[in-house]
Amino acid sequence: MHKHNFYAGPSILSQYTIKNTAEAVIDFAGTGLSILEVSHRSKEFVAVMEEARALVKELLEVPDGYSVLFLGGGASLQFCMVPFNLLARKAAYMETGTWAVNAIKEARLFGEVDVVASSKDANFNYIPKGFTVPQDADYFHYTSNNTIYGTEIRHDLDAGKVRLVCDMSSDIFSRPVDVSKYDVIYAGAQKNLAPAGATIVIVREDALGHVERPIPTMLDYRTHIKKDSMFNTPPVLPIFSALQTLRWYKEQGGVKELEKRDIAKADLLYEAIDSSRMFEGTVKDHADRSIMNVCFVMKPEYKELEKEFVDFAAARGIVGIKGHRSVGGFRASLYNALPIESVRALVEAMNEFQSSH
Ligand code: PMP
Repeated sequence: MHKHNFYAGPSILSQYTIKNTAEAVIDFAGTGLSILEVSHRSKEFVAVMEEARALVKELLEVPDGYSVLFLGGGASLQFCMVPFNLLARKAAYMETGTWAVNAIKEARLFGEVDVVASSKDANFNYIPKGFTVPQDADYFHYTSNNTIYGTEIRHDLDAGKVRLVCDMSSDIFSRPVDVSKYDVIYAGAQKNLAPAGATIVIVREDALGHVERPIPTMLDYRTHIKKDSMFNTPPVLPIFSALQTLRWYKEQGGVKELEKRDIAKADLLYEAIDSSRMFEGTVKDHADRSIMNVCFVMKPEYKELEKEFVDFAAARGIVGIKGHRSVGGFRASLYNALPIESVRALVEAMNEFQSSH
């Protein structure tokens, strides 16, 4: 049966990415070797790394003075690498979900952390507004898309003269970004890019070298900049897959086009939720709603039907819609590779289920 993949991550990838990766597992670039067994120093793989880096720069219009890195360790390692490299005395953080909480916990190991805004009081179901970033902070960190709670900041924030750092793990490549406003952007690959195992880091080179502390070699961004992400063995397979996705993005018309499609998909689903007598969205303010992760629940009078709906949807090939345990209900992740037909299938299932109850 054809599956509609709504998982939050690892998550749906384009068929182009999957097919080309499958082929390279058998024969990589005509080498007669599998991508699983090829040297990362082979000229064929070095070419993959170079093209992937160039395509990230092209798609996100990364200005001069920035390096694009492909590292291991997941986005979670960036929670520690960012303060290791940038926090001299004090950092400001926005607390909008579990991943922000984890990032804050790591930063506290390195210095003072000023949590300038939080939506913890309402289980992170909104984006805090009207806060100020202390201008003596070394940087301001925020999470652009809160994967678990379905909130998103869909514009570049302004922190005045303070350096800006953003975790874009679950919405990178879903809109154009003004990279020049940021000092570090990072994203785990396993949502909009590749299988798990690689993390993209876009770092402004002159933001580095301003902290006194010794930095372990592997955790120092400068190590990886100097060695073009080849200081140690990089995650070869995820980087190969990332390149396929990046090529596909370019062919589709780039991030502006992806954004248009993502908005259309999200609008379709939110409309179905808002006009339903059975379902309701967990994020009330439309401006805060994520176009990547749509969180919704059954209204109190239908609450006991939630499990039944998950099974009802699964029988139609709709998988991965169970909400994270800290929110409950449902979460439909609408990453770039998800076709609008899958959203239509989900909306149809919701309507059918509703008419039969
Ligand atoms: N940040 C965000 C926004 C995430 O959604 C996730 C994972 N889902 C992480 C960080 C952690 O990423 P990783 O598992 O790659 O460490």
